[in-house]
Amino acid sequence: MDPASELRPMPTERLINELQSYGVRLVDPRAGADSRRGGAGPSDHKAITIDGMTVMVPVHTAPAFESPYLVEKPDAYGRSRISRDGLVLGEVSFPLQPKFYGLSTAEGVPYSKIAVLHGRDVLATTVLQTCIRYQSRTKTCQFCAIGQSLAAGRTIAHKTPAQLAEVAKAAVELDGVRHMVMTTGTPPGKDRGAKILAESAAAVKAAVDLPIQVQCEPPDDDAWFARMAEAGADALGMHLEAVTEPVRARIMPGKAQVSVARYFEAFEAAVPVFGRGQVSTYILAGLGDTREEILDVCDRLTRIGVYPFVVPFVPISGTPLESHPTPSPAFMNAILGPLSGMMIARGLKAIDVKAGCAKCGACSALSTYERQALGQGGCS
Ligand code: SF4
Repeated sequence: MDPASELRPMPTERLINELQSYGVRLVDPRAGADSRRGGAGPSDHKAITIDGMTVMVPVHTAPAFESPYLVEKPDAYGRSRISRDGLVLGEVSFPLQPKFYGLSTAEGVPYSKIAVLHGRDVLATTVLQTCIRYQSRTKTCQFCAIGQSLAAGRTIAHKTPAQLAEVAKAAVELDGVRHMVMTTGTPPGKDRGAKILAESAAAVKAAVDLPIQVQCEPPDDDAWFARMAEAGADALGMHLEAVTEPVRARIMPGKAQVSVARYFEAFEAAVPVFGRGQVSTYILAGLGDTREEILDVCDRLTRIGVYPFVVPFVPISGTPLESHPTPSPAFMNAILGPLSGMMIARGLKAIDVKAGCAKCGACSALSTYERQALGQGGCS
């Protein structure tokens, strides 16, 4: 245990819960690598390392501007102190800006518009930055900002397999990236993006030995799971986001047309292809599902070998849910505590996942709870 954690009024997993609910105020907003704004999935965060765990902490959200947590300007080594209401709690650090951000393709596209660093060692890309679910406000997933980073010119609409391979190779060689997440907006075809993910994974694998997680909606044909695996995908994410149909219909009216029942059929088909624990789903806690509803679905998921990556919902500026509150740390604690025990009992551990969000773990305190339950403390 580091001296800083002795000062802390709560264990590391509880502190991470608090930081992810409240966010932090930064004395120097330029500290560390650039924060994510817009894009698919969680955003408006910055990566911060605390007790050896790198976590994504909201910094640009409305709650973060009023957070009781403050991170001072880092010193020359990137180390900084975190305090709450004036009481210094310990030391944190920021992953540095990756070197591959300084490069561009031969056509002049900056690598950072093709893929970005997530957490400490994950290369993340949104292969298609457009989505059939994002075309109208009546259909859009209300938490999603996939179009914002495109509109702001921070990314390009379609990353080609060759571009992804080029950036992945550089990120491994220059920055020691250890796995890759490929997500995609959902295209019009029935494969829901599986084809373009398979092509992208194949190109990256031909260029560099890097474990890859692909993320898409359940495709029309379960044969796509084997095709993606044969192309080089090591893990798969199919994200429920919310677990009950009324909440799904309210929060993501377009995507909710694919029912929870269809997701479970797809999970049952995908686990034998990728293996137990290599198929995961993102669950956003705080959108209306109760603790019991989330834990019930996690019970079903873990029985069939799916890793439920439960994260606190964080509102993104500019989305319909920008004023929606984050779940309380107590709510997250009441889910993640029992969930980590359930997962360990069924042999599902973040450390065994080959690639992707469950392995990275930066958007949730779940893996910290797992370590705690396994008696490994907070440090990696
Ligand atoms: S958990 Fe997933 S979305 Fe969050 S930082 Fe890691 S790779 Fe990115």
